[in-house]
Amino acid sequence: MALETTEIKRRLSGVDVLTRKKGLLISPELCIGCRGCQTACKEWNKLPGDRTSNRGTYENPPDLTPNLYNKIRFLEVTGGDTVKWLFVSQRCMHCTDAGCMKVCPAPGALYRTAEGAVAFDRNKCIGCRFCVAGCPFNIPRYDQEGRIAKCHLCSDRIPYGLQPACAKTCPTGAIRYGDREELMGIAKEAGYKTVYGTTDLGGLGVLYAFRERPSYYGLPDSPSFSPTIALWKNILKPLALIGLGGAVAAAAAHYVTIGPKEVDEGGEE
Ligand code: SF4
Ligand code: SF4
Ligand code: SF4
Repeated sequence: MALETTEIKRRLSGVDVLTRKKGLLISPELCIGCRGCQTACKEWNKLPGDRTSNRGTYENPPDLTPNLYNKIRFLEVTGGDTVKWLFVSQRCMHCTDAGCMKVCPAPGALYRTAEGAVAFDRNKCIGCRFCVAGCPFNIPRYDQEGRIAKCHLCSDRIPYGLQPACAKTCPTGAIRYGDREELMGIAKEAGYKTVYGTTDLGGLGVLYAFRERPSYYGLPDSPSFSPTIALWKNILKPLALIGLGGAVAAAAAHYVTIGPKEVDEGGEE
């Protein structure tokens, strides 16, 4: 059932992402930590298992990997005499104002789908890892060949009328897929104090229904990316793209995103 990349792009061209954005609504309160969504994502994307060790927790693996696009984080929150266990899905947020897309110098490596998600074409990724510096949520990972790997909002299911595998599998409704506007309405109607992602970074494609502050659930209260990203996008990236001063642009980008190289007294980096 896999679509050719060119066919996916043909179907997804000419999109008004702001008015047609679809997304996911994640409600940690409804999550039972079964990790069916984690497994369904791996199965659909044919991602192998990662070797892990027992760290004294049910949470596994400890972090996102190139083989894990959606991870359920197990958080223990203490208050008074009680300990609360929270289960929170961590994955690409499909930002409207996406830092990863702003910094990516490889045309077509990251692209916007018809639903407003941020998908990737690993064959066009050059492995520069600039998108890591551009992402406020620490999402992009790199596979063994140094190419980007992350959630793509099931860009190879949705064109066939299928829900994302994670949402389809979730037994409790903790992950729902649909029109972003409708999902926000559902969360508000259910009385949630905060719908995280409503306006952050131009509007996230992954919304969270929260009763407490986002940091309570391990997410930044006000996600943002560095102002140097704008410098890269507006000045250095166009230079690199037209092949003028590409090396200078790359060196400058390294400086603004990672920092200066340090040289010790012996003259080594
Ligand atoms: S969460 Fe990170 S990787 Fe995903 S769209 Fe936003 S900036 Fe890009
Ligand atoms: S939307 Fe698809 S790719 Fe993204 S986490 Fe869910 S199953 Fe995985
Ligand atoms: S499938 Fe649903 S209930 Fe199970 S871990 Fe994922 S979000 Fe939580």
